[in-house]
Amino acid sequence: MKALDELTFDNRFARLGDAFSTHVLPEPLDEPRLVVASKAAMALLDLDPAVAQTPVFAELFGGHKLWAEAEPRAMVYSGHQFGGYTPQLGDGRGLLLGEVYNEAGEHWDLHLKGAGMTPYSRMGDGRAVLRSSIREFLASEALHALGIPTSRALCVIGSSTPVWREKQERGAMVLRLAHSHIRFGHFEYFYYTKKPEQQAELAEHVLNLHYPECREQPEPYLAMFREIVERNAEMIAKWQAYGFCHGVMNTDNMSILGITFDFGPFAFLDDFDAHLICNHSDHEGRYSFSNQVPIGQWNLSALAQALTPFISVDALKEALGLYLPFYQAHYLDLMRRRLGLTSAEEDDQKLVEGLLKLMQNSGVDYTLFFRRLGDESAELAVKRLRDDFVDLAGFDAWAERYKARVARDGDYTQEQRRERMHAVNPLYILRNYLAQNAIAAAESGDYSEVRRLHEVLTRPFEEQAGMEQYAQRPPDWGKHLEISCSS
Ligand code: AMP
Ligand code: MG
Repeated sequence: MKALDELTFDNRFARLGDAFSTHVLPEPLDEPRLVVASKAAMALLDLDPAVAQTPVFAELFGGHKLWAEAEPRAMVYSGHQFGGYTPQLGDGRGLLLGEVYNEAGEHWDLHLKGAGMTPYSRMGDGRAVLRSSIREFLASEALHALGIPTSRALCVIGSSTPVWREKQERGAMVLRLAHSHIRFGHFEYFYYTKKPEQQAELAEHVLNLHYPECREQPEPYLAMFREIVERNAEMIAKWQAYGFCHGVMNTDNMSILGITFDFGPFAFLDDFDAHLICNHSDHEGRYSFSNQVPIGQWNLSALAQALTPFISVDALKEALGLYLPFYQAHYLDLMRRRLGLTSAEEDDQKLVEGLLKLMQNSGVDYTLFFRRLGDESAELAVKRLRDDFVDLAGFDAWAERYKARVARDGDYTQEQRRERMHAVNPLYILRNYLAQNAIAAAESGDYSEVRRLHEVLTRPFEEQAGMEQYAQRPPDWGKHLEISCSS
């Protein structure tokens, strides 16, 4: 276990130089205080969890103090936002503080979000409000607990610093951890500004640090792109299987590691709704829940375009062609497991689609349906779940097919079925209304609800005594919350 001043830095991105990022110091928050810290994330840096309670922790992650070895930098990138190219974006309110190696030799970027103005702030104030910082923290740690690749969050630091959005709010900072903060938009920036040497330097950096195994391949850059395609397909398959809607899948929010990145007005589905648009400035539904699948491919094509100086168009196209099959395979595999199936049959895709259609028409709670399906034998579970559906004849027909499919699947006890299904079907997810309750309390200075919710969400598959209220459908007020996009 390490103290805060014992981290081992090696700031490789900073060493790429000023064409890639700009040195900027964090702007401290007034009266910084710990809102919540993740013990699991602290363990990634070998940090003793007790250090979160020390004043220096809030000072460090509230922008007042810096390690001598830190080199805070704002990264430059660009990207396609809602389908249109924006020539220059960048860290407008976040700083890469430095890169740390833990004792296991893993590399972690330390990124402080909400750290003040940078050369890339455009019209913004460089700040993040408490509300959105809590949402990013909870989502990162909750997605991780569900087994969905994501950036992590070490802590949220609150403050008395006033920040103006639709109304006056308070500034906060999140310390985000990721193996890399390089986005599709980094490659796009150097491609569209016609800086091939720097683009090659960036590609070498990513290859060396994150895809060293691709070096062994005859075409390392192509192998790396394929891997990026596969990882993104897998991540999006998991979003779809667990009902996560990102909301702002611009290419500057897509990670070259295939991790969920840059949380905005995201939502987990309550009732199953393929057409959910969680971002209320997304008027055309470009980033609706079901569109995430084709948009994933669209974004990878934008990255492919930026890689044309290194890889032939034919090879890029071939690699892009892997996206849908990879996606389908991962998605079906997970959905089969959610249904309690251990084998694969040709028609399983139809079984899943049939169920989702029925759920959509009846507004069935997506998470609780699967959890309850595993509570009992297929026979008893469908009998009990039937009441949630409006199209009873449709559900009965589906239930017959499901029971027959389960019967063909294998011989196992109900105990085995429950255990297997509960291990992939969470009881607790980050419902918008739960986040909202925790945020309302935190905004009035009570952080206990954020901490409790975070604790519950770190073990989503385990029934936790006394936590029934976190496993409920939303009350009426919490059903279709409009989440502000100004974060
Ligand atoms: P986002 O929608 O959060 O992914 O941000 C898009 C771009 O706007 C990025 O370049 C951000 O750094 C920048 N940005 C967002 N909010 C702010 C803010 N409050 N101040 C400065 N820049 C911001
Ligand atoms: Mg972003």
